[in-house]
Amino acid sequence: MNKVSFFRSIHFKFVMVYVLLIMLAMQIIGIYFVKELETSLKENFNASLSKRVSLLVYNIEQEMTRNTNEDEDEDGEKANDEITTIISDFETDEILEVRVIDSNKTVIATSSIDQDIVGKKTTEAMVLRTLVGLEDSNSNYFIHQETGQRVMVMTQPIKENNFSDKTVGAVYIIASVEEVFSQMQIINRIFATGTGLSLCITAALGIFLARTITRPMSDMRKQAIELAKGNYSRKVKVYGEDEIGQLAVTFNDLTEKLEEAQAMTEGEKKKLASVIAHMTDGVIATNRNGKVILINNPALDMLNVSRGTLKDVHITELLGIEDGNTFESLIDEQESLILDFSTKEEPLIIRVSFSAIQKESGKIDGLIAVLYDITEQERIEQERREFVANVSHELRTPLTTMRSYLEALADGAWRDNEIAPQFLNVTQTETERMIRLVNDLLQLSKLDRTEYKLNKDFINFTDYFNKIIDRFEMTKSEHVSFVRNIPKDPLYVDMDTDKITQVLDNIISNALKYSPEGGKVTFSIDVLPAEIQIRVQDEGVGIPKGSVNKIFDRFYRVDKARTRKLGGTGLGLAIAKEMVLAHGGDIWAQSQEGKGTTVYFTLPYNPEQEDEWDE
Ligand code: ATP
Ligand code: MG
Repeated sequence: MNKVSFFRSIHFKFVMVYVLLIMLAMQIIGIYFVKELETSLKENFNASLSKRVSLLVYNIEQEMTRNTNEDEDEDGEKANDEITTIISDFETDEILEVRVIDSNKTVIATSSIDQDIVGKKTTEAMVLRTLVGLEDSNSNYFIHQETGQRVMVMTQPIKENNFSDKTVGAVYIIASVEEVFSQMQIINRIFATGTGLSLCITAALGIFLARTITRPMSDMRKQAIELAKGNYSRKVKVYGEDEIGQLAVTFNDLTEKLEEAQAMTEGEKKKLASVIAHMTDGVIATNRNGKVILINNPALDMLNVSRGTLKDVHITELLGIEDGNTFESLIDEQESLILDFSTKEEPLIIRVSFSAIQKESGKIDGLIAVLYDITEQERIEQERREFVANVSHELRTPLTTMRSYLEALADGAWRDNEIAPQFLNVTQTETERMIRLVNDLLQLSKLDRTEYKLNKDFINFTDYFNKIIDRFEMTKSEHVSFVRNIPKDPLYVDMDTDKITQVLDNIISNALKYSPEGGKVTFSIDVLPAEIQIRVQDEGVGIPKGSVNKIFDRFYRVDKARTRKLGGTGLGLAIAKEMVLAHGGDIWAQSQEGKGTTVYFTLPYNPEQEDEWDE
């Protein structure tokens, strides 16, 4: 924010208003005061002069009456001289000239050095008016032509016997009023100085006062700037309890509330951000043009894109659904879309559901797309479908075989002593196969259930393994030889004996079943740090490379026709796998087609526990 220039500041305005107000007040007072003073001074001057002039008039009248009573001629001159003396005495610094005029309008005496006008008729209007008795005593102000001074001219009639109505002459006085004006000038100067002084004091006071107002305001302004920057720690100083003080308190309150509100929104934002970030589902948000504005990490992973490349990317482009889909169509999309992002290495199926971000006004402000990884779901679904198809197929095959044999028997083959037992034998084998199959399925479905429990016991595995091999040794064909690489020392393993027996039975019977030419079957136990590894190696037909990992899948058989002949359902290793995994072990196979197969499986083994067992 710009700094307020001095001439626009409240400071300046405040002082200016103060000074102007005082100036105006002083001006009004000054005009009135000076006028009054002038009038009063002039009146005073006038009054004091009038009094003195009255005395003068009295003296002159005395002199004039004396003259008229005595001889005229000689004494007339003398009397005039007397009057001249009187008026000369009367003259002071103030009184510049005194003239005496008789009733004939003739000047009979003057105090002036210039005696020229004596004996001449006067033309002064004021004197003439006084002589005819129009005015009693009169005064007027002029600028004196000779001296250039401000003067007051005063006339007073000389009355016979002083109080009668008959005017015998007049006195004409020119008095300087410079004294009065100089007095006024002094007073004016004092007044001007006073005004100047009071203006200075007012300005100083104004500055001080303005500061008491502007300081809290500039404080608040600074605070507001800090607030805008997000700094809530500053507080405005409260200078008093007046309105500005209250404003400061309110401002501080506001700051606190704002801080709380800000903290709350931040908190909510963080919560939301963390929820979005830690969701396992992908979330993409767009603006109202469909451009991506937010995307969380799971979504980035699913779409295999990096955040940096997403600037200004449209959502349809990001999801690869530009064909046939627009931003508007996605907003109206009620059903979620299933998108296949599978690569050669990894399958990836994503379900995307869309929902519009609406403003309160109902206007669409953007779109939120939630991405669910449904690969696993799809895989399970696919497996289920395959499983059902496989089961149906596996059940139908023996059933169709049985039906054709039974039909043949019903058609009369039963009478044939040779064929009938053969046919019945086939149906019996097929029935047994079906029973085995159904049993296997039942067992698998039991293993699939989560509440499935193992009946574990500590068993000496070497002993146990030898016994199982012994059992097979009794029934094996003579083309096959058994080799045992089994440690002599006991190995105690915590396991469900029935289940592991089933695993071993299947692995060993496979080894025998798929070794038509016979050969060597090697049984080994390797003790590893935390587990024992059991190996069954044969020299049979082996398994093609691509199929080695699939043999543990349900119903998977390398050569369906042949294995079915051998009575296999393809469920043996799948069951074995479930059981080994339930024990916390693992199972896998290695094979070379035509050379033989090795099946491995591991079981958790803890030598310390064995020691405890021994004690
Ligand atoms: P089941 O065990 O249910 O009677 P199966 O033996 O056919 O039937 P699995 O034991 O699950 O089923 O074996 C799956 C497939 O793996 C077999 O059909 C076979 O093709 C192949 N296989 C398993 N063990 C061997 C082996 N030792 N040598 C060669 N192929 C094998
Ligand atoms: Mg088998």
